[in-house]
Amino acid sequence: MDDIKLAMLGSKDAAKRLTEAGVLVPCPMCHGKARIRNERYYQPNIRRNVICTRCFTNSGWYKTEYEAILSWNTRAPILSESELKKLEEPI
Ligand SMILES: [Zn+2]
Repeated sequence: MDDIKLAMLGSKDAAKRLTEAGVLVPCPMCHGKARIRNERYYQPNIRRNVICTRCFTNSGWYKTEYEAILSWNTRAPILSESELKKLEEPI
């Protein structure tokens, strides 16, 4: 099982490895692709968050990209193992 799947099942170790590699796990709500967003409107410092490009679920704002990615990648377990298997079954 790869680190993305492990992270989706709640493995903090896998989430940390992905974060260190700069990899974002899919959206916990819709499994859409996530991206990093920077924003500094009306703020003295740039803030960063990770947002789903499909449903706009986001990680909340953080000072560093690393913190934003770690927060996104270490959310509460997204799927149980059996739910994950269902996703991989052909329709
Ligand atoms: Zn989403």
